[in-house]
Amino acid sequence: MTRNPDEYSPTKGHTYLNEPSLNKGTAFTEAERDALGLRGLLPPHVFTMEEQVPRIMKAFQTKATDLEKFIYLTALHDRNETLFFRVVIDNLEMMMPIIYTPTVGKACQEYANIFRRPRGLFVSLKHRGQIRQVLSNCPHKNIRAIVVTDGERILGLGDLGANGMGIPVGKLALYTACAGVPPTQCLPVTLDVGTNNEALLEDPLYLGNNTRRIRGEEFDSFVDEFIQAARAEYPKAMIQFEDFGNTNAFRLLERYRDQICTFNDDIQGTASVAMAGIISALRITKSKLTDQTLVFQGAGEAGIGIAELITRTMVDNGLPEAEARRRCLFVDSKGLVQSKRTDLQEHKKYFAHDLDALPDLQSVVETYRPTAIIGVSGQPSTFTQPIVETMARLNERPIVFALSNPTSKAECTAEEAYRWSGGRAIFASGSPFDPVEMDGKRYVPGQGNNAYIFPGVALGVIACGSSRVTDEMFAAAAFELANQVTETDLESGLVYPPLGQVREVSAKIAAVVAQLAYDRGLATEPKPSNIEQAVRDYMYEPKYQDYA
Ligand code: NAD
Repeated sequence: MTRNPDEYSPTKGHTYLNEPSLNKGTAFTEAERDALGLRGLLPPHVFTMEEQVPRIMKAFQTKATDLEKFIYLTALHDRNETLFFRVVIDNLEMMMPIIYTPTVGKACQEYANIFRRPRGLFVSLKHRGQIRQVLSNCPHKNIRAIVVTDGERILGLGDLGANGMGIPVGKLALYTACAGVPPTQCLPVTLDVGTNNEALLEDPLYLGNNTRRIRGEEFDSFVDEFIQAARAEYPKAMIQFEDFGNTNAFRLLERYRDQICTFNDDIQGTASVAMAGIISALRITKSKLTDQTLVFQGAGEAGIGIAELITRTMVDNGLPEAEARRRCLFVDSKGLVQSKRTDLQEHKKYFAHDLDALPDLQSVVETYRPTAIIGVSGQPSTFTQPIVETMARLNERPIVFALSNPTSKAECTAEEAYRWSGGRAIFASGSPFDPVEMDGKRYVPGQGNNAYIFPGVALGVIACGSSRVTDEMFAAAAFELANQVTETDLESGLVYPPLGQVREVSAKIAAVVAQLAYDRGLATEPKPSNIEQAVRDYMYEPKYQDYA
């Protein structure tokens, strides 16, 4: 028997129940239940949001694994967005590792198995020539922030193709949770340009196109159609590139950064958060940025991004550019990055100095006597005891940043850094480490989490309608973040403020970024008399609206 669609006759209330940005669940009031045709569709007891939260938290705590917690929160996000953000914002430190790294990585790996409802837009190879029409299918029309991935380099997990959708979804959840960018202004996008992951290509449950990645001109023109379509459909949207493979990431940033309002968090956001950590560390060492020599283990998006921002800031502080670049030395899997090498990718060449070959980090540290070592190679345990001991011999307070994620990939642990340096290392990591007790002293390692930077930068850019996102903004954001670190934080070795303060940090960063946009003539919104207040007024607070 065929069904007659006319037999389905939803009330207005069904729309409110099924749309997560409108739904209040059991919190619809008696008056709303009358007005929207919800009578009988909900259990009779009317709850306030404050009364709904404990039920959510209780169910959350019963989930046995982080992945189950992720699935539970995703279901809440898809059902009642306001309640989801209330719960996340009120429990930010507990929720961030679930809705974003590290759990989101596992969720992307399991995406086909945990898939319930789609979220975000999949722009597929099949949509070539029609991408604008696809983008117009998003029901929200005032889009201000798009996070886009092609799934090629998901966290440290490699090519996950269309299963990488968890990343733009999670990242935008942090835009809202950490900086109050309104969720209805956020659009997660995955460009399904194929995958070269053999396991996915053979997986009958894979949700993306079972084809190999397109490359070269074909890839570029597909991305370009997306960019032009996004600009036409959502002219006020900022576009953030996320988790593209590193060759494409650098190229796309170069191509679009001066044309549209865009940034790449893996490169520029990482740079800003790492530089903030260094600036804080210099308050402990009481030295100047221009006096530092930094050795990077790993010459990819993170390392090159950090070095570019530091170089730029050293130049702003009076060092000639060539000299500033020479203060940043890179070690990759083949040893010291230097100009005689013939195997260097384009992005490494700006830091390939005229130096003799050296085989590894140990020899580079011995030879060039850095003040800081920054681990961004994704290779665990590469800051060995002899290397940290050498750093401690060369420096009263050596800066040791083991930024590779997840925790299992860190170049050394917090405990190793403190123990091998006799408690003198200024340590920060990409993934969180617990405080360390040693010889009666408590050391608190900082986490260089990008979430300190990108939400605030995005909020500032969006609130003032900046037409560009500039490196100057990321430098300013780094200084502002470092400003938020107190003397008490520094005394325990902490080079970042506590993560629980991130919304306050984001508001401050957003104000600085918006101020710069006005100063540089990039802002398109009328200038408010009090920029920080205007930014704070823009911030979304998860509260139910009254529909009656
Ligand atoms: P990427 O793939 O672009 O770069 C990795 C680099 O490491 C490449 O240059 C590669 O040549 C080099 N490498 C590989 N093996 C090596 C070895 N044995 N010795 C030295 N170098 C080696 O990746 P990315 O985006 O630059 O990220 C690198 C790491 O940094 C990841 O683990 C990522 O999680 C971490 N990261 C941390 C933060 C943060 O703490 N806020 C932010 C971004 C990235």
